[in-house]
Amino acid sequence: MKYLEEYRDPDLARRLAGEIHRVTTRPWTLMEVCGGQTHSIVRHGIDEVLPPDVTLIHGPGCPVCVTPVAIIDAAIAIARRPGAILCSFGDMLRVPGTDTDLLAARSEGADVRMVYSPLDAVALAARCPDREVVFFGVGFETTAPATALAVLQAADRRLSNFSMLVSHALVPPAMEALLSDPDASIQGFLAAGHVCAVMGYAGYEPIAARHRLPIVVTGFEPLDILEGILRCLTLLEAGRFGLENPYARVVRRPGNETAQAWMQRVFQVVDRAWRGMGIIPRSGLGLHPGYAAFDAALRFDLDPNPVEPESPCRSGEVLRGRLKPFDCPEFGTRCTPEHPLGATMVSSEGACAAYFRYRPRPAPAPSS
Ligand code: SF4
Repeated sequence: MKYLEEYRDPDLARRLAGEIHRVTTRPWTLMEVCGGQTHSIVRHGIDEVLPPDVTLIHGPGCPVCVTPVAIIDAAIAIARRPGAILCSFGDMLRVPGTDTDLLAARSEGADVRMVYSPLDAVALAARCPDREVVFFGVGFETTAPATALAVLQAADRRLSNFSMLVSHALVPPAMEALLSDPDASIQGFLAAGHVCAVMGYAGYEPIAARHRLPIVVTGFEPLDILEGILRCLTLLEAGRFGLENPYARVVRRPGNETAQAWMQRVFQVVDRAWRGMGIIPRSGLGLHPGYAAFDAALRFDLDPNPVEPESPCRSGEVLRGRLKPFDCPEFGTRCTPEHPLGATMVSSEGACAAYFRYRPRPAPAPSS
């Protein structure tokens, strides 16, 4: 398939891996900040062909995974209200809240619908004027423009029965928060190519300068990731820092200005709770006061930053790169994709799901 096979060429991958071995002279730790990249790394065994001195750690790059449990509880509570229809992407339906998930709530009678676009939820609200239709909008800068467009459409159509439970997150403030941690071991970032396709990469340049590290805009195919790692290591070995963009076939420095204009019209930057990372200042998007009529948090009187309930799930450590999924005692025992204890095991971009799917651990030897 065009644009896929050509970025999975085994000979080119071997050559890039050889170049990575050639340039590496000492230990380095890099973090990828996208769940799609995590899955690609684990699926294609990219970490296994790197020199032993190079450590890849997985960051908070799965938007479903960083969504606080309390927001999922709020979505479930809305879905259970008589007359309400709760719409969201399929990834959200099996993410555990405190006691249950949206799919289980649906089996108990709540009207929960999977949609492919927030615009589907707007169309549903127009078809069902006697129902309260709420779209649960989760995602990074990649999905926020479509959510913004849905609000603009709902406003144009004067839909009074449509609202948004907004849980959009911004990647650069999370990178800053990770780097501000005194225990942080990150020496370079692979930035998420799709986020940069929307937002551009100018916002990453001050981070690279302030923390004196390389940030490389990276795609999702094996050659993209190997190229991103090579660029990062080349800069580190030369004692240099800064931003590089080898993903230029998709990403331009200014990004997608039309999408950014929709976001600026509809959203304002707000403090946001990240699962396992607490509240990160100015790391989320909330509806601009001019669109408050579409804010489900106001309509249903929800706490914007509720306290996270206790959980045996250690996904907060996984999302900060402090714990590999294998090292969680629940991995593959009490926690599996069929019975997930945390979002990182059930989301299609979650690190625990990637390890479970592509790196099954051998069964323990039978005791004699
Ligand atoms: S294996 Fe399960 S319990 Fe452990 S961190 Fe991952 S999702 Fe949470």
